[in-house]
Amino acid sequence: MPCRALAEQSLIRPACFRHPLRIGLAMTVHIIGAGLAGLACAMALTQSGKQLVIYEMSRNAGGRCRSFYDSNIERHIDNGTHLILSANTRAVQWIKSLNCHDSYTVIAPAVFPFLDLTNGEQWTLQPNGGRLPWWLMCSERRVPGSRLSDYLSVYRLWEWGARSSRGGLTVADSLTGPLMRRLWQPLTEATLNTEPEVASAALFARVIEKSFLRGERACRPYLARHGLGAALIEPAICRMMKAGAVVRFGSRLRTVSVIGQTLQLFFDTGIVETKKGDSVVLALPPWSLAKIWPGLKVPKKFRAIINVHYLLKRPVQLPGGGVFLAVIGGLAQWLFVRGDVLSVTISAANTLATQSNAVIARHVWADCAAILKICMKKIPPSRVIKEKRATLAHTPDEDNRTVPLPPLPSLVFAGDWTCHNLPNTIESAITSGVRAAAHVLGQISDAQYQG
Ligand SMILES: Cc1cc2nc3c(=O)[nH]c(=O)nc-3n(C[C@H](O)[C@H](O)[C@H](O)COP(=O)(O)OP(=O)(O)OC[C@H]3O[C@@H](n4cnc5c(N)ncnc54)[C@H](O)[C@@H]3O)c2cc1C
Repeated sequence: MPCRALAEQSLIRPACFRHPLRIGLAMTVHIIGAGLAGLACAMALTQSGKQLVIYEMSRNAGGRCRSFYDSNIERHIDNGTHLILSANTRAVQWIKSLNCHDSYTVIAPAVFPFLDLTNGEQWTLQPNGGRLPWWLMCSERRVPGSRLSDYLSVYRLWEWGARSSRGGLTVADSLTGPLMRRLWQPLTEATLNTEPEVASAALFARVIEKSFLRGERACRPYLARHGLGAALIEPAICRMMKAGAVVRFGSRLRTVSVIGQTLQLFFDTGIVETKKGDSVVLALPPWSLAKIWPGLKVPKKFRAIINVHYLLKRPVQLPGGGVFLAVIGGLAQWLFVRGDVLSVTISAANTLATQSNAVIARHVWADCAAILKICMKKIPPSRVIKEKRATLAHTPDEDNRTVPLPPLPSLVFAGDWTCHNLPNTIESAITSGVRAAAHVLGQISDAQYQG
């Protein structure tokens, strides 16, 4: 692929690049981190006339949203199956702007198949079009055994959650009753990657308001057909490099020093000095930023997501007939099928992440075998990926924090965690990158940037 070759060319050599050849007299924007936030910032600046240089410590772009070839199961897999909802307008816009719509399976109309492993009961959640949720009147579209009144408590959550933005209510404080186990808990853990007992009610209310309360059109799941790399990352890198951006893989930023109005960026591979008028965007996760900028107040509590990918002998059909299935009452939470690979996602998985990969693969396979009604003893080749800091723990405290303001006007922070009114997602990462670009261009104030 031409962009891969281009990227190879711009791999940094292990030498100082104090005067890199490709950086001319134009104002330069140095973007550190080639996750979605850094890439979105770069994409938004490609037409700005500024020279763009992106520095990434690893050999690939994508950060927490990446694909790779796994030799154990001999397939290209994602670090974790990512699901985008149509309510994520920035993410959908990103897909459109990259002309990548064909790389996605879009479930329209939106349908969410569920299975309860404890008794084998199955159902599908099917919101209707429009804001009036008349689907709740149809018992076959609801969780079995639930009544209309059970769902109305969500409005209470929204009202209480929105009011309690300073009060610190959790989802479990606001929502109780028969739907907790079969609806509120799986939705909270899928969207906030945090257990309902500690997850912010206000943030959950915002997620529900933007999606389920807006009807079916806001709830359509987007799934990358051939993986995240092909659908989200490689087309962006390709587009940026064609526009003249330079990507320096293998460049870990260690520290930054402020010299008047300019900065010195200390990479493993050398030092970069910024010029007057240059900007620096640190599109980094909070733990990396804290190392570079000791003393900065950044979030410190995270939640793990575990994914287990199994190579099956042949493609399987999930109960419900879709490409994914939500599971209640097991270790496995969401199953996805892509060809002969079955991928299982487990959110809010800090405790499980302390187990060995072999133990996780075995226990999760027991759930899969029961769901697919196949032999439990023969565990297929598998790959377990533990992302221990997949997202912040979205607690009320985290929801109420303010994003630190960088100490210099030419410096901007980006990254999913800097959008404190959204959970850490593709949407928040892209939003933060676009906002950082607007800040670089002087289009938004510090207050707007922090908001
Ligand atoms: C398993 C998993 C499943 C997920 N599922 C979903 C989902 O279904 N839907 C959804 O919307 N979101 C999901 N997310 C969240 C989503 O992936 C993240 O919110 C998003 O990718 C964050 O992007 P970012 O650019 O802010 O940060 P990152 O992706 O962390 O990017 C930061 C980049 O900076 C680089 N870097 C770090 N330190 C340095 C340094 N010192 N010098 C140079 N480079 C550095 C890193 O290598 C990385 O490439 C999931 C995340 C995980 C891990």
